Amino acid sequence: MAGLQEISEHQPLEWENPLFHTALSQFEQALDYCEISDAIAERLRFPERALIVGLPVRLDDDRRVVYPGYRVQHSSVLGPTKGGIRYDHNVSLGECAALAMWMTWKCALLRLPYGGAKGGVRCDPRALSQRELQAVTRRFTAELLPIIGPQEDIAAPDMATDEQTMAWMMDTYSMQVGYAVPEIVTGKPISIGGSVFRPEATGAGVVMVVDSACRRLGWSLSEQRCVVQGFGKVGAVAASELAERGATVIGVSDVSGGIHDPDGLDIQSLYERSLERGHGSLAEYEGEHVTNEELLELDCDILVLAALEDQVNADNAPRVKARMIAEGANGPTSLEADAIFAERGIVVLPDILTNAGGVTVSYFEWVQDLGRLFWNRDDIRRRLEDKMDDAFDRVWDMARKRHLTLRQAALATAIHEVAGALDARGLFP
Ligand code: NAD
Repeated sequence: MAGLQEISEHQPLEWENPLFHTALSQFEQALDYCEISDAIAERLRFPERALIVGLPVRLDDDRRVVYPGYRVQHSSVLGPTKGGIRYDHNVSLGECAALAMWMTWKCALLRLPYGGAKGGVRCDPRALSQRELQAVTRRFTAELLPIIGPQEDIAAPDMATDEQTMAWMMDTYSMQVGYAVPEIVTGKPISIGGSVFRPEATGAGVVMVVDSACRRLGWSLSEQRCVVQGFGKVGAVAASELAERGATVIGVSDVSGGIHDPDGLDIQSLYERSLERGHGSLAEYEGEHVTNEELLELDCDILVLAALEDQVNADNAPRVKARMIAEGANGPTSLEADAIFAERGIVVLPDILTNAGGVTVSYFEWVQDLGRLFWNRDDIRRRLEDKMDDAFDRVWDMARKRHLTLRQAALATAIHEVAGALDARGLFP
């Protein structure tokens, strides 16, 4: 049987790039623990569908440019595909394919009736005006029309896209079908069916997982000294939630650098000031300044990584002093760093579990939109806690029973769910 390896031996398949190889290597490693057939494993190595489009856009100075746009859907066996849209100059088919595969595992682990997707436009969003961003978004949505829909593929914000982007996507889609379809996107403004808890969901979910892990380890969260890298939508909320639960947050950072106080920072005031001045302004604040590299190596108990991918690698992992690492970002720990942490007995709370609060509350948003009824914050928070606790318990128990790392257990649990569905449905035709 010709497998992915043989097929791509002479000519790599279009989506093969370093990030896709990381996602695939994690998948291959997890296969050792999940007892699925070769045929089903082979199916899951391939995305189900990928679309590349050229987006002609008229700029403010009247020039016309064409941007490449991508959407990759990894698996629809459990339901519609779900995943973010990013605007960035690094967006590629391979990056979208890797992130789509991770989304499949994340949704399956949380037992959400979705598969993974990811998409984006290769552009420099900071160089575009609001009018130009709107033109990119509306044209991109129009090009995606044949493959998206509330029962086919649902978008959400990601890097450099936000509530406004989702509102433009929702409007473009709705104008095509002739009526309002809020359930085509999640992470949209509350005024058009967005969730009251979506902005805090990922950061709050990170701390729910940290708290559960502390309880299992017999640590009291309120006695832990924490460092948070990234002070954006995920990191700033995670830092606030940690402080609210009594932990001492001794270091935080953003793209401009970090600040450190071994006696604890006033997170509430930093959070309020960062909302006023915008993300990326921590370097302006008084206090002891550290670089992002130094921040990762501070003496602390819990390190929350909530900035971007590949932050701890073979180079700096031996110098990390934390006893627990929580992955708020996607892919912040390299494969080599993972092995070093396992060897050193450092607990790594893996991304597909730890940052799944966002997609879980997105799922609640979609369900509420479909039913045209809306829950309040307490209701959403309680339902999120139930879902996160259930997934955490399954991962933790499997890791203990089979002597696996939490990442291996999370991936194996998720892959097992997807494989079970593929097996039950059989092969068409
Ligand atoms: P964001 O843009 O709101 O925040 C990112 C933060 O990281 C900012 O404070 C930024 O200044 C900082 N940062 C950027 N480059 C940095 C660098 N080189 N060193 C240190 N800090 C740097 O983004 P976000 O939504 O908070 O996402 C953060 C990560 O979490 C991403 O990996 C994203 O894919 C992942 N994630 C986000 C969500 C969500 O709901 N927002 C859900 C799941 C996963």
